[in-house]
Amino acid sequence: MNLLIKNIKQLVTVASNGKSSKAGKEMRELSVIENAAVLIENGIIQHIDSTDELSTGSDIDVLDAGNRVALPGFVDSHTHTVFAGSRENEFSMRSEGKSYQDIARAGGGILSTMTATRAATKKELLRSAERRLNEMMRHGTTTAEIKSGYGLNAESETKILDVIHDLQRDHYMTIVPTFLGAHAFPPEFAEDKNGYVELITNKMLPHIGGRQLATFCDVFCDEGYFDLHQTEQILLEAKRYGLIPKVHSDQLAAIGGTELGVHLNAISVDHLEHLTTSGINVLKTSTTIATVLPGSSFFLNQPYAPARSIIEANIPLAVATDFNPGSSMTFSMPMMMTIACTQMRMTPEEAIASATLNGAAALGLSDEIGSIEVGKQADIVIYDVPNYAYIAYHYGINHVWKVIKNGTVLEF
Ligand SMILES: [Zn+2]
Repeated sequence: MNLLIKNIKQLVTVASNGKSSKAGKEMRELSVIENAAVLIENGIIQHIDSTDELSTGSDIDVLDAGNRVALPGFVDSHTHTVFAGSRENEFSMRSEGKSYQDIARAGGGILSTMTATRAATKKELLRSAERRLNEMMRHGTTTAEIKSGYGLNAESETKILDVIHDLQRDHYMTIVPTFLGAHAFPPEFAEDKNGYVELITNKMLPHIGGRQLATFCDVFCDEGYFDLHQTEQILLEAKRYGLIPKVHSDQLAAIGGTELGVHLNAISVDHLEHLTTSGINVLKTSTTIATVLPGSSFFLNQPYAPARSIIEANIPLAVATDFNPGSSMTFSMPMMMTIACTQMRMTPEEAIASATLNGAAALGLSDEIGSIEVGKQADIVIYDVPNYAYIAYHYGINHVWKVIKNGTVLEF
């Protein structure tokens, strides 16, 4: 199956120039080609040139982009897409001034989603996640990481990872699974937190690692959640089973999660709202990606991660949605770019690099996806806009015209 996309007004390639991610000033260099065409063979990008230079053979399907703008598919490197229930009641409580911690103490928060998710069947979780992934694709996302973490016992965490596995096999989206058993302490271990850590290290990780149900292992390392010692115990054990560490760090307080993540060679540290100078200095010496989640700051009305300081320190920065029912009920990457530009003072170019190539790097996939370059998977999204900056600028609506996944033009 071969495809030629022609008459692309701006082809935003986000060319990586052989690097796995962009940092510092490179984040503003998107390598835009005007009046471009892309030739795709068997799902792989074969040739990129001007429309005038690329001619068509008889066995090639042609998609006329009609002078629209094309970007690499977004890589949403941090989501919690598989869950049951919803939490609009907490949304109302927060609008009356209650904090995330107040709500958690009143029995809401992660634990309310846990109760609904434990009660849901695998089929119910699969159906709701499929619908969400379809919507994500309609908004330009072609790869998503999905975390477990609403089961919080061996049976339900496995159920969620099984659902993610089925989605990975059957859905058009490229999906990367992460085990986040250490998302919160379940109520049955409220008085025995180390007992839950032991359940993760002695029971869940051997099972999940043995069945290769996850690529990454993540821990919510923060005040009131998993402390540094517990985080280290879990991630060291995860590494023994071949899982690569990720850390939710510095969201509520700076307790050293970022520094620990770098020490354990985490592929990314995520959130970073309270990132300190020490955290920045440690990240500078590493290959760990700094992933910021503007949606949760926006939704919870909390401080934003210091994106400018991260970029100025030459640390590769990724932007993701943190899609989840409590703190960021959105899967719109364009919306994240708008918030990144308006609230974190990022430029539209930096926002695009963070949402594509650097997101791929946060999943270890930048050899295959994240930019439009010869040899990479043809994940290309075409927007009905006059130029690429318009996507974040005209916010709150969907500008996607066509999604090409693995060289196939998807029909919605
Ligand atoms: Zn998260």
